[in-house]
Amino acid sequence: MSKKIIAGNWKQNGTLKSSISLTKKVLQAVKKKKYTHEIIIIPPSIFLLPIKDLIHKSQIKLGAQNVSAFNDGAYTGEISGSMLKDSGVDYCLVGHSERRHIIKEDESDFSSKVSRLIDNDIKVIYCFGETLNDYKNKKTKLIIKRQLKKLFFNNKNSLKKHPSKLILAYEPVWAIGTGLIPSPEELVSTFKYIKNTVNKFDKKYASIQILYGGSVTPDNASSLMDTEHIDGLLIGGASLIAKKFIDICSTI
Ligand code: PEP
Repeated sequence: MSKKIIAGNWKQNGTLKSSISLTKKVLQAVKKKKYTHEIIIIPPSIFLLPIKDLIHKSQIKLGAQNVSAFNDGAYTGEISGSMLKDSGVDYCLVGHSERRHIIKEDESDFSSKVSRLIDNDIKVIYCFGETLNDYKNKKTKLIIKRQLKKLFFNNKNSLKKHPSKLILAYEPVWAIGTGLIPSPEELVSTFKYIKNTVNKFDKKYASIQILYGGSVTPDNASSLMDTEHIDGLLIGGASLIAKKFIDICSTI
């Protein structure tokens, strides 16, 4: 059985100095407690290499927040999947709500990115979830189905060959950075729906892990993790504060 996952997405925050200090604190905790779950930190790309040097040979895995949709070549400002691999990156986010709604990336960008990552043997953490408007209009399941259908249809060949290279992260847009989270009943129903939907696409997808993300704190982490089909947590704000992130890692 796969390990539970705790991933911290630092977004576009911090300095080199603060990122190193945060990493060292998490490293210290990990060395002391020897967690049985997978711990992933996802710093801004410019800090990936110095952080990789720090966590080398530790239990902490390295994630990237973004990847180019293209292979190496004339794409100014982009970082390719092979460059991420070369820098020791194990995981990469795709489809995060900030990239959907602020950067305006779409499903065709995401499907190219998923391919580039799988080709370079990097695990994809694919984020999806409904907006506040969708939630209010009771369209959560409809939106989830639509997003998952596009992901699994557009990447059918590579995902069927390498289902273990995909991790799903359900992040309701209205829960990100707001302090709001779905009710326990909503979570049970939504995660069951995600699990069934994915299994219906193909039996090979039965073991794909599903994370929850959106306003996770040390106070709600353990009850979230007790929810059926939640295999881990994707944490934004709380992952920037060493004590909070370590407390979350320690509560599960
Ligand atoms: C995120 O952006 O992926 C996230 C879950 O953020 P937060 O934990 O701050 O809600």
